[in-house]
Amino acid sequence: MTHPQLEATTGRDDLALVYLLRFGDDPRTLVETVDSIDPRFPRSEKSVINISTQFGCPIGCTMCDAGFAYAGNLTGDQMLEQVRYVLRRRPEVLTTRKLKVHFARMGEPSLNNNVLEALKGLPQVVPNEGLIACISTVAPTGRDDFFTRLTALKHEHYAPRSTKGGGRFQLQFSLNSTDEQTRRRLMPIQQLSFEAIADMGRRFFQPGDRRVALNFALAEEMPVEIDVLKRHFDTEHFMIKLTPLNPTERAEENGLQTIIEAARPAAANVLVQKLEGAGFETVVSIGDADEIAIGSNCGQLFRSREGLERPTQQVRAAS
Ligand code: SF4
Repeated sequence: MTHPQLEATTGRDDLALVYLLRFGDDPRTLVETVDSIDPRFPRSEKSVINISTQFGCPIGCTMCDAGFAYAGNLTGDQMLEQVRYVLRRRPEVLTTRKLKVHFARMGEPSLNNNVLEALKGLPQVVPNEGLIACISTVAPTGRDDFFTRLTALKHEHYAPRSTKGGGRFQLQFSLNSTDEQTRRRLMPIQQLSFEAIADMGRRFFQPGDRRVALNFALAEEMPVEIDVLKRHFDTEHFMIKLTPLNPTERAEENGLQTIIEAARPAAANVLVQKLEGAGFETVVSIGDADEIAIGSNCGQLFRSREGLERPTQQVRAAS
């Protein structure tokens, strides 16, 4: 077990603390780990830990600063060490009623098989009945084996408490647009088709599970068409999550403008009505305006470090 070293931190103790952690002596082996709350609830009700799965990210989405550099995969234990790091600083998280551990900070989880090992070990590291594990993916092609193993692992280790609910795992696909060309522009990697994602989601789901989330970080000129969603995804297995597109440096460089934000919480109301009208459970998750002010968006602290290597096309292709 290698304890990480704290390189930098930002945030606010009562909202979200972002730690920039280094594993070993290599100055490139940096990750961001986040200890946060859901502003709608007190910490005793819900806590959220967000961990990284790769040192930087090889994908380089046009709205995310984590793709600024890339230096490889974390081991399963390095992922669990991030959780232990937060628990050492905030042991009360162990008794919070609901504890979400997101594998959704820096890195694309499906590109790292060690994520499966970390998911197996997580319930021992976090002996909390309220544990919910979450994976967020942009659905790259060529990772069928990872998703098949993830499905089996979820059935074995995170089965719902009853067929009526109590799901302990959330799988989330970051689609961001229903237009395939826009999707490829935003997330520059070969991605599974909607049909393949729908197939995978249906196989993943078992009665009592949380519905598989389709996430859209809503931005201007990024179409979200109800008809396309209805054609591919059914309302029994899938739900829709709408979030702001965070103001990262990459988003600014690429001229991406969010539609919803804390100052305009109702900006997506028409879309929400249409989605609900089509039968989709729809969640709008905006967060707190202060999260922007404290610079806690993915990759921002990481990108502030100098001397990191940018991912090359070869690295991206090999991942
Ligand atoms: S959004 Fe996710 S997959 Fe895309 S660059 Fe950021 S960390 Fe990587």
